[in-house]
Formats: sequence, structure tokens, C-alpha cells
Amino acid sequence: MANYQVPRGTQDVFGKEMTKWHVLEELIRNLCYVYGYDEIRTPEFEHTEVFHRENDSSDVVNKEMYTFTDRGERSLTLRPEGTAGLIRSYVENKLYAHPDLPQKFYYVGPCFRYERPQKGRMRIHHQFGVEVIGEKSPLIDAEVILLGIDLITRLGIQDTKVLINTLGDKASRAAYRDALKEHFAPSVHELCGDCQRRYEQNPLRILDCKVDAGHPALVSAPEIHAFLNQESKDYFDAVTRILTSSGIQVEISDRLVRGLDYYSHTVFEVVSVNKEMGSQATIFGGGRYDELVEYFGGPSHSGIGFGMGIERLLVALDAEGIDISDEEPADVYVVSLGKEMLESAFQLAAMCRAGGYRTELDYTGRSFKAQFKSVDRKGAKVVLMVGESEIKENNVVVKNIATQEQLTLSTDQLIHQLDHWLDENHVCEHEH
Ligand SMILES: [Zn+2]
Ligand SMILES: [Zn+2]
Repeated sequence: MANYQVPRGTQDVFGKEMTKWHVLEELIRNLCYVYGYDEIRTPEFEHTEVFHRENDSSDVVNKEMYTFTDRGERSLTLRPEGTAGLIRSYVENKLYAHPDLPQKFYYVGPCFRYERPQKGRMRIHHQFGVEVIGEKSPLIDAEVILLGIDLITRLGIQDTKVLINTLGDKASRAAYRDALKEHFAPSVHELCGDCQRRYEQNPLRILDCKVDAGHPALVSAPEIHAFLNQESKDYFDAVTRILTSSGIQVEISDRLVRGLDYYSHTVFEVVSVNKEMGSQATIFGGGRYDELVEYFGGPSHSGIGFGMGIERLLVALDAEGIDISDEEPADVYVVSLGKEMLESAFQLAAMCRAGGYRTELDYTGRSFKAQFKSVDRKGAKVVLMVGESEIKENNVVVKNIATQEQLTLSTDQLIHQLDHWLDENHVCEHEH
């Protein structure tokens, strides 16, 4: 039997819910404008190797990707996250050669992951992300985190905490990795299958395992901070210091390693502490990457970014009782006094729309009463009425709902009258 329902883990967005997306997207664009971050759009699918890099241990890459062979026998993957494709683009388009570094980007678009769907975790989810590439400075790490916090603060979200950790530079991480291998060697056979793979590929990620979280070997695992060299320590101290002096309370979380393998130095998560968020509490998270640009064939540029799930953010807003929906009323409703007036009403509506006014009209010649019910429901501020005598004289009756003022005008005066009633910025250049 045909299945005409949305696929599992996907949803339709419409009506009031859609207006929330518009409000969010506009806020994102304004905020990124203020911070000087430019939008970048990369394809929704890429060659599989863009995401599936050598020796990657992450679940996202190993278990959750939508990979398919196209009609040209290419292996393509729907992007599971925003960073890899953006870095591919940064290298392919030689954006690293720009005289002003770092380059600062943002994106908003869908990501695809084959996961068990939950509230705030969809198989198609939309991500707002930023990436700042080409320079390395604790100021940049702090700025990226502050930009994300700025957005959720402007939305009114309050129940959050900022978790931050460092994975150190390559040398620190190598030392830590050796220590973890030694530490887990006697118990690795007791850990889950994923951890056995992680043990070989990236033992840091064992610390992240939800299945083995309570295992004594995880509880007693050494902490990264004992293996950091001075440079890595200084870098991390600077990031936390700048955040603190910017008024952000941070919590250093030793076990935070994030779900992707390419991170070094700063990793962070801003999580909701609202009870209704349950296990899907991360509002945004990200980190610095030192080797990704080189991996794609570019120079040794470092970058940092975060991803924020729009659907998850909307759940967080609901959890805190914040309603950002925004249903715009109509400016004008054109009422026809009889079926014969429909086409004249249609032309008047076109005129109002050309003047920039959000205009509704009756399409089928319903009763006067039914049309006025629509006027109410649409919240129209001005009603135009067209009857036989008005059409003959090229006139229209206009009524301002708020003031109840009603005028009969020639149609060439119509837009000017609407400007008077509806446009606060209207400056009149002549007497009337
Ligand atoms: Zn495990
Ligand atoms: Zn005027």
C-alpha cells in the first residue's frame, strides 16, 4: 500500500510554527550581520569521503549517515553536519587566500542523520552554524561562543549552562591518548562494541560513551588536564578568562570531548538545564579544529565553529514558555459587493500589493457577511468595498477599521490614502 505520510524522523512545518522559523532566521541573519559573519551555502550532499574521513571513530560518521550511489555510480552522502562541507569549500574556492583572516562564515540549512527520532532530534534537522577559519586566537574562540549565547539570550532563554573543556594541541592529545590506551588496556574487553572500536581509533571518545558511563574504568580514567603542555594550558586559560570577563559563567567539564574526531583545543556545549529537555539538552556545541583544512588539501589553517539545531532550539523555547510566533495581520481586504465585481476587486488588490500592502480578497463571490468574517479573521486594518456604482465612476470605498472612518475615493488616490493610514513614515508632499 502506498505510504503518503512523512518519513519517520521528518516533519512538515506550516502555519504558526513556520512563523517561528522566520523570526529565528531573521534574528540569526541580523546577529551575524552585526558580528560580521557572512553566509555561505554549500551543497546538501557531498562526495562521501568529505564526511567519511580516514580512521574516524564518530557515531555520526560510522552509523548515522545517509549514503547512496547516484546514477553516475558516485557515492554521495547527505550532509550529517555543517563543518566538513564548509571546509571543503574553503579549500576548493581558495578562501584561505583572502587578505583579511580569519574568514567568518555562517550557514542555515538541513542536516541528515539516521538516528532514533526523539523530541528535538529529527532525521532531517536544520542547523545554524558558524565557522571562523584562518587565524587562531583565544579571542576568536570566545567570540564564537559569545555569538551563540547572544542569540539564545536575545530569544529569552535562561535555563542554560556553558560547559567547556580543552583537548589540547596535537602533542598533548597524543600523550593523553597513550595514557588512556594504557589505562583501558586491561578492561577494554568489558566495554561496549563501539568502545572497542574507539579504543583503536580514538580512545578519547570512550569517555563520551553513554553505555559505559558508570564503568569503573571510565570513572577512574585520567583527565586531559594532567597531560596538557604549557601552550595548551595558556590557550585554554585565556579562553575561559575572556569568557568570564565578558560576563559568562563557564563550567569546566573534564569529560566533554564532543562527538566528532577532528577537535583540538577548545570544545564547548551550551546545554539547557530545563527539566523538560530530557536527554536532548544540548542547544549548541562545537570546538576548534587544527588539522581539518590541511586534511582537505589547504594550508595549515585552524578554525572553530558550532552547530545549533533549530528544531532543538524551538523545543527549548517551548520548555521555557517563550512564544516567538508572529502572525502578521493583513493590511487590506478587498470586499466585492456581488460576483460581477470580482475582477475589478482583483485589479484593486493587485494595485494595493504593488504599493507594498499585504492584501487579501474574496475569490468566489461569497456573501457580504462571509467576507466580513474573513476581514476579522485576517485582522485586516483597511477594507475596500467595490460595488457597481463605484466601478462605473472608477471609485472605491475605503474604511479604516480602527477609526471607523469611511471615504469614497477615486482609485488613483487609493494608495496615497493607504499610505496615510498604514505607513507611519509617510511624508505628505501636498495638501488634501
Ligand atoms: Zn562504550
Ligand atoms: Zn499624504
